[in-house]
Amino acid sequence: MKTGRYRQYSQHLAEKFGEKVHKLPVNLPGTCPNRDGSLGRGGCIFCDEDGAGFDCLDNTRSVKRQLAEGKAFFRRRFKAEKFIVYFQAFTNTYLPLDRFKENLLEAAGEDDVVGISVSTRPDCVNDRYLDFLAGIKEEKKLDINIELGLQTVNYRTLARVNRGHTLAEFIDAVLRVKKYGFEVCAHLILNLPWDDREDVAENAKVISALGVEYVKLHSLYVVRGTVLGDMYERGEISIISLDQYVARVALFLEYLDPAVVIQRLVGKGPQENLLFCNWGASWWLVKQKIEEYLERHDIYQGKRFDYLNGKAVRGLTD
Ligand code: SF4
Repeated sequence: MKTGRYRQYSQHLAEKFGEKVHKLPVNLPGTCPNRDGSLGRGGCIFCDEDGAGFDCLDNTRSVKRQLAEGKAFFRRRFKAEKFIVYFQAFTNTYLPLDRFKENLLEAAGEDDVVGISVSTRPDCVNDRYLDFLAGIKEEKKLDINIELGLQTVNYRTLARVNRGHTLAEFIDAVLRVKKYGFEVCAHLILNLPWDDREDVAENAKVISALGVEYVKLHSLYVVRGTVLGDMYERGEISIISLDQYVARVALFLEYLDPAVVIQRLVGKGPQENLLFCNWGASWWLVKQKIEEYLERHDIYQGKRFDYLNGKAVRGLTD
């Protein structure tokens, strides 16, 4: 039962929209408050200059052109007819509001676009941007979701990776987004060098308690020239083994609410300047190892999801 042990995104999309829908990345020229000095300089210690948008199209091209090229590719390769436009790199709600609106409207106007996904930082979720998104959701009948980089719920680790925000901003962002009826996707790294298995389980518990709808998991990659890259080359950090990582993903899934959809089980790294990524294995091999581990140990998403709704008093209600 390889595909049934966690809730898969492709299947969820097919159920939700009744047909094949593909996510189409678009890259806007922007930056991030953790890089330009307004919150911090240099960014998160693992972030390279592309701002995590390494697999996007060139951001000097217009949104229209990126969409046209992306759609042509997905139509050819996957026979996709409907799309969710994914504003991926950097911090999209850190763009001035008028530019944010302009870019979003270009995407929202296309007939075959059924949804918009906006990637941002938890501390860049603001009601004025959400008001605008609520308007286009209503007018264009679009599915809107906000992707929030959290990486870990351990606020001490967040400080060590120089995230520039703590867990509180993430909680505020999730509650704010949900007030508007949009869905949330949280990004997590399960092998940050300062986190242990308890942090991994707590990641799953906090995501579940907040009612986050989607999760993207990835393992830490290390790019030369970043602060993390320098630490790695100096031998100041160690990264857990692939087997340990696989067991962590399984642990995470065990504690996760079975309703949460896993958008990505394994991430990919940039093509260039990599010092470390997925233990030198391809992403699909890591995915296969995780699925085999789940099968072998009879682990499935939600197996230990029994901690909400007053666990300690449940027996007293009869
Ligand atoms: S929030 Fe994202 S874009 Fe900004 S520094 Fe961190 S990883 Fe890079």
